[in-house]
Amino acid sequence: MTDICGLTLKKLAERLAELGEKPSRAGIIFPAVYGELADSFDGLPLKQETLKTLNENFTFGRPECLQKLTSDAADKYLFRLADGNTIESVLMKHEFGYNVCVSTQVGCNMGCRFCASGRLKKVRDLTVSELVGQLMYIRRDIGQKLNGISIMGIGEPLENLANVLDFIDIAQYPRGFDIGLKHITLSTCGLVPKIYELADSAAPVNLAISLHAPEDGLRRTIMPSANKYPLAEIIRAARYYSEKNNRRITFEYVMLNGVNDSDDCAGKLSSLLSGFNCYVNIIRYNATGDSPFSCSPHERIMSFYDVLKKHGIGVTMRRELGASVNAACGQLRASSLVD
Ligand code: SAH
Repeated sequence: MTDICGLTLKKLAERLAELGEKPSRAGIIFPAVYGELADSFDGLPLKQETLKTLNENFTFGRPECLQKLTSDAADKYLFRLADGNTIESVLMKHEFGYNVCVSTQVGCNMGCRFCASGRLKKVRDLTVSELVGQLMYIRRDIGQKLNGISIMGIGEPLENLANVLDFIDIAQYPRGFDIGLKHITLSTCGLVPKIYELADSAAPVNLAISLHAPEDGLRRTIMPSANKYPLAEIIRAARYYSEKNNRRITFEYVMLNGVNDSDDCAGKLSSLLSGFNCYVNIIRYNATGDSPFSCSPHERIMSFYDVLKKHGIGVTMRRELGASVNAACGQLRASSLVD
């Protein structure tokens, strides 16, 4: 049996050909699955024999929703996968539409010291069907079109790039979710070779890079991946990405009280990024249960912001949509596992 939600249009056509069916039938099946959100082949305008072949060879993978936390700005979903592992997704309700933040792995091995997800070691990558399943479930649940996707839930998406690329391919399908590349953002801690791979792929989505420090020494103390990929290499890869795809890169910077939030850090960050088509997204740190870190005070954040502005760096501040539903960083899954 093949899980139909794990196949791109091209792969479905190939699979149909292997089964002795016309590959063009994929053009009937795909809009039904992703446009009408069918969860069976019943009623499709296809011959009985074809329907029989489909039923005998394909399943419809679906995550099971264990828990949903709701607030005005964001809803958080905890899903159980077929093998019992749990993942989470967040629906962000912006004034311009609905954006889903998807997880890409069960747990995460990047080990960022301030992040709750990293405390739950990676178990495995999510399959394409499990990636798509998060969108499927949420779109059914809200009965509305989704406007954008943030690939920045639990996990390091560039470690699972092949599946993420198929997921993006499916998400873009015009008679399905119909979410264009410009409305999809992928966040990475900076896996340099994979940034080049994504830049050269068919799906150069918006790229966000978790920087969180303007110098390698400091960065290594909070992000182990910095031992492998120095800032100079990350910035070089980001420039390549930006120039090749005509994209403005986002650098994420989480404000950790007394760690990376000084005016000196802001000045160094400005020098690092000067003359680059990018902006810095300042993120308030969402302190998790036993974290040794806390969020910088408001005045410190504003001062940091002002230094960047003064140096002509574009700056935005992420709205804290998810805080009341523990949506920043794997907290729901973490709490469901320790409780
Ligand atoms: N692995 C990817 C994507 C997942 S994390 C990455 O590192 O970018 C998404 C963003 O949330 C990253 O910038 C991450 O550093 C940040 N983050 C993690 N824990 C956080 C917390 N407790 N509060 C605020 N942001 C957090």
